[in-house]
Formats: sequence, C-alpha cells, structure tokens
Amino acid sequence: MSEFTDLTLATARDGLAARKFSAVELTQAHVAAIEAARDLNAFITETPDKALDMAKASDERLARGEGGVLEGLPIAIKDLFCTKDVLTTAGSHILDGFKPPYESTITQKLWDAGATCLGKLNLDEFAMGSSNMTSYYGPVINPWSEAGGNRQLVPGGSSGGSAASVAARLALAATGTDTGGSIRQPASFCGIVGLKPTYGRCSRWGVVAFASSLDQAGPMTRTVEDAAIMLGVMAGHDAKDSTSAPMAVPDFRAALTGDIRGLRVGIPKEYRVDGMPAEIEALWQQGIDWLKDAGAAPVEISLPMTKHALPTYYIIAPAEASANLSRYDGVRFGLRVPGASLDEMYENTRAAGFGAEVKRRVLIGTYVLSAGYYDAYYLKAQRLRTLIARDFDQAFEKCDVILTPTAPSAAFAIGEKMDDPLAMYLNDVFTVPVNLAGLPGISVPAGLSADGLPLGLQIIGRAFDEETMIRAAGVLESAAAFTAKPGRA
Ligand code: GLN
Repeated sequence: MSEFTDLTLATARDGLAARKFSAVELTQAHVAAIEAARDLNAFITETPDKALDMAKASDERLARGEGGVLEGLPIAIKDLFCTKDVLTTAGSHILDGFKPPYESTITQKLWDAGATCLGKLNLDEFAMGSSNMTSYYGPVINPWSEAGGNRQLVPGGSSGGSAASVAARLALAATGTDTGGSIRQPASFCGIVGLKPTYGRCSRWGVVAFASSLDQAGPMTRTVEDAAIMLGVMAGHDAKDSTSAPMAVPDFRAALTGDIRGLRVGIPKEYRVDGMPAEIEALWQQGIDWLKDAGAAPVEISLPMTKHALPTYYIIAPAEASANLSRYDGVRFGLRVPGASLDEMYENTRAAGFGAEVKRRVLIGTYVLSAGYYDAYYLKAQRLRTLIARDFDQAFEKCDVILTPTAPSAAFAIGEKMDDPLAMYLNDVFTVPVNLAGLPGISVPAGLSADGLPLGLQIIGRAFDEETMIRAAGVLESAAAFTAKPGRA
C-alpha cells in the first residue's frame, strides 16, 4: 500500500502518465489507509464512493490521453470548504446536517483539474484554534509521537486534520486555510509543507468565513514542488470574490530553480522571543547557514511592531468573526433548537451550537465593536495593523524573503494549554504578523526536536511574490533533506 501512499503529487502523476498504475488503484490504496487510521480522527466525512467514481472517470480521461494537472490524484479537503451535496460542518455543531447546494471555487478548480475527493477533514471549530481541540467532532491525533513516549499529541490547528492526513499518508495532499497560522503551524507540527498564499491570491468564495480580511486558502503537501503544483490550480481571480486579485497565475513550479545566489534573506531580530526553546533557535541558525551555503546573503532586519501582532490579531479576528458568525441563527440551515419566541430560538440555537472558544471570540468581537469601545480597541488595532504591514514594507527594501521559525514549539500533548487561552494564542506568534500584512508564507519541515518531533522553518515573501518564496523554500527543503516519517504512516 505504501507503494502508492508514499508517492507525491508529482511522482503519482508521472506514474499515472506512464500507466504504471491506475487512478482507481491509487485511490483504493488511500481509501484503505483512511479506514485503517480512523483512530486519528482526521476525517469528519469520508467519501470513498465519490472518490472511486472520480478515479474511474480520471482513468477514462487518461486513457484518451486527456486529463488535467491533478488528474487521478486523491486529495482531501478541510471541512471549511463548501462541497456540493457533501456535509460541510466547519467543525461546528451549528452546521449540523448542512449540505451546501454549491461548490467552493477552490474545490471546483481542484476537481476540474482532475483531483479525486477522499473526504472532508477535521478542524478547529470555525478554524478558531491551534490544536484541533475545539472541534465539535473531537481532537485529531498527530501521527507523530515522542521518541520513547506514548502521549497523544495535537497535530496543530486549525487545519489539524489536513496536516495529520497528509503526514500519515492518508491523502497525497490536502487543502487548508490560514487566518493566523492555521496552514503553517500544523504543517510544522506534522512534518509537512504548508503554504499560505498572498491575501487575494486564492478565492475565498464558498469557504466558510472566519475573519474575512485575514483568511486565505492554501495547499498542504509533502514537498515544496507539490505545494507549487497545487497552488497553481487553486490560485486565480474569481469574480465571485471581490477581494480576489485580478492577477495572472505564474508557473509556480518553474520557480524551483534551486538557484538562490545573491538572494537577500532577512532575519528579524525581534523574533528571538523570550522562552523560545534552544533547539528552535539552533534550527533557525541552521536554516540561515543552509541558505548562506547556497549563495544567499543573510541580512538582519527589524520588525519592531511584531510585539503588537498577537493583541492586534486577537481584536481584529474576533471582531470579524462576530460579524461573520451572526448568520448562524437556526433559520435557514444547520442546527435549530426551538424556543418560545423567535429570539429564544436564536438564543437556544447559538447556545447549543457554538463551542466555548467560538463563544469567547463572539463575545470579545462584539465587545470591541460596541459603540463605547470601538475607538479604544478596534480602531487602534486597525492602526497597528497598518504599522505592522509597514514594518514588512520597510524590511523588504533590504531583503527578498524573510526566514523565521514557524512555531515556538514542537507539537504538544492533547489537553495541554487548554486552561490558558493566552498560552494557546502564543503558538501563532511567528505566523500572525504575516496574515495581518497579507503576505505569503510557507512552512518547510527542517528538522526534529530532541524528542523526535518535526520542526518547521517559515519563509515569508513579498506580496504576490510566491515564486521567490517557493524558490527559497525549495533550497531549504533540499538542504534539510527531511526524510523522517511519523510512526503512524
Ligand atoms: N490559531 C489562530 C486562531 O486561533 C489562527 C487560526 C487560523 O489561522 N485559522 O485564531
């Protein structure tokens, strides 16, 4: 089975083209792997019949010498993307039974390119979280475990099911979304590649909204090349999303030249945060050395406003979430808990339908948007956001990409940090500024912790310059030569 499930998108595509195996065989191997790994709880909905039907159609197209970029390649979808007639939950009880009558633009593009759909992946409720612990459907188990230990670890979040499924070889690739780090941090925790594109690069149409000015969809894969291939399919202007950018989609894969001679790599001095484990600091230095050995020029840069990024994010994101989530009222779709009056029905539905973290954010968001506090919190956060973006603009006068750790720790145990929202929010200290500035970022698996857990490094690019970011990520990936596999793959 691993003969099929260990393939990458690129090698599976070559194998299909050379008729070494069929799309049906490839899909069957993944369906079997998913069945054998149900204890990881990576999927909310498995769609094996749909996958096999799609694979059959792919085999027919391939036999006719036709087929798209992802023809016959089995992938899985974060359950935040609306999929026509397939249950879409956003990890929340409030969307009980919701089968969208439409398909998100991104998933439609993936199916149009020939990919087959294995199912819908578990996530933190409404993508709010860094551990997958807030899902109504229960936690996802990280397929990695500590050397000699048997604690169950979180896969990171919110795209925890996506990261776990790709790491555990249940899917060749998955979609994720990233509002403050939800593609990159779980990629780092699970030893895979996660790419958050520039805001506006991929359509948000049909993706359940969390914080609309920050949300971006992106690929989660096992190689940088696969991320480039998948991004090429996902990206592009969409008239249905007014914030999607009317820009041509470059050939991201062609950016992988392996040549970064003369590239200026910014190293932000403020990212040496207090309490960061020495092994992460050491890996970061190793990353700098790798890029330098490949001919790049590290330069120190300053991002002084970074220290305000988390508080800024935790005002803006909940503010937008409180507005976006006001649509869940029990009237047209999802859960409805009856009440004596219409108001009581709303209250009962929202009380039963939302989990604790979602309620916390709706309360914070409503508070910071309220007339008396708008200027003190929301407006101030907007101003800080502008300053954070300006930091990056100034830094990019001195450098072409920025290198940082992805997360301040390796995966932690299930249940840890649950009583301390602030400790949980710290997971995103290196990723959140990138969303606030709308920039692209990628996490590349770069090494193992002393406990044998994967650690990622992040490369941040200029807006709409994913190509340079991907080029640097490719070099980092080759230098790191990360070949470790989780115990559960
Ligand atoms: N962990 C962050 C949060 O809880 C980011 C989540 C995300 O990127 N969707 O909001």
